[in-house]
Amino acid sequence: MSFTDHADNPFASLSPAVWRGSTVVFDTFEDFVARKSRQPDGYSYGITGTPTARSLEHRIAQLEGASHCVVTPSGASALITAVMGFVRSGDHILISDACYGALKTFARNWLANLGVEVEFYPPTIDSNIERLIKPSTKMICLEAPGTITMEMQDIVGIAAVAKRHGVMTMMDNTWASPLYFRPLEHGIDLSVEAVTKVFGGHSDVLMGSISMLNTSYYECLRETQSILGQAVSPDDCFLVMRGMDTLQVRMKEQSKNTLKVARWLDAHPMVGEVMFPALESNAGFALWKKQFEGNGCLFSFILQPAREAAFSAFFNALRHFPIGASWGGTHSLVAYYPTSQQQARQYPPTNQPIVRVSIGLEDPEVLIGDLDNALKCYEQARLEHAIV
Ligand SMILES: *Cc1c(COP(=O)(O)O)cnc(C)c1O
Repeated sequence: MSFTDHADNPFASLSPAVWRGSTVVFDTFEDFVARKSRQPDGYSYGITGTPTARSLEHRIAQLEGASHCVVTPSGASALITAVMGFVRSGDHILISDACYGALKTFARNWLANLGVEVEFYPPTIDSNIERLIKPSTKMICLEAPGTITMEMQDIVGIAAVAKRHGVMTMMDNTWASPLYFRPLEHGIDLSVEAVTKVFGGHSDVLMGSISMLNTSYYECLRETQSILGQAVSPDDCFLVMRGMDTLQVRMKEQSKNTLKVARWLDAHPMVGEVMFPALESNAGFALWKKQFEGNGCLFSFILQPAREAAFSAFFNALRHFPIGASWGGTHSLVAYYPTSQQQARQYPPTNQPIVRVSIGLEDPEVLIGDLDNALKCYEQARLEHAIV
């Protein structure tokens, strides 16, 4: 009797199958002995992936213009897996100071203690990054626009310098998603997405992906994903694939509404600066326009200076923006990043608290009305708790 023969499946569903399984069984002794030769694409044990995970990886790879993709259990784990695959003791790694917090903390508190030379660079450095490259430089990590502070990067310029020096590049592309920027087409080696955000799109799943063209990088990352135990649930893969069915329409609508809200805030007297490269007033506008095809649904802003009590009044007045971390879902969200967080950075673009909003699928006029009211509360509290 064979455990592995499957009759042609007569259930032709539009939705992908959810394959659960830790154990993979083999027809023969010889097949079992040779099981490792099935990697990087095949199945030998649940940890290296299920057919459901492979379907998702193929779909993400297609969007990224990639040959290969590895999914991991979160965006943070995708960033860390990408680094762990290639960076070793004695290597030098360059990380944008505006990269995602967990990547920076991992570099500072783990990599540095494992003998890796960790260096943060100013995100707006452009091809001048060449001056920071050493013979031991292994990888440059980019994120554009930067987490929270939204600095735009000269991705093409940095990737070209890295290629010339044989240095790998990894870019966190979560903000634009491959719909609006495809890193691999611009000379980046590894494109990382926090799939949790716009791919999942419904604030109910955590996942990450690493996409690439190079097959030996893929073999390395499949092994790293597996050895680090970064297995992804097939149910979560199903949720992400369902989210991806509407990715394009969600992104289009949310991007349009985001631009509307950002422009409105940009003209408001209580708003000091809108950190959003899609606005002409932003320092990153020219670079964004040159490299990206859309603006996404996430931006930040700085208010006229005030005590924390005024921020409390602003946040607590909002009725259509739940307060919470993460972004990219159908519900709008707002988050607060105090001055101390900027002060902890090596190259902070501001010393003011930052408000970050993710715009969902609500009516933008309702969102603007909500912000208008909250800003009135801010203004009043600002006067009551004046900075003298
Ligand atoms: C949220 C986020 C991550 C991390 O994703 P998780 O799935 O929450 O771990 C990484 N990069 C960026 C830019 C993010 O916004």
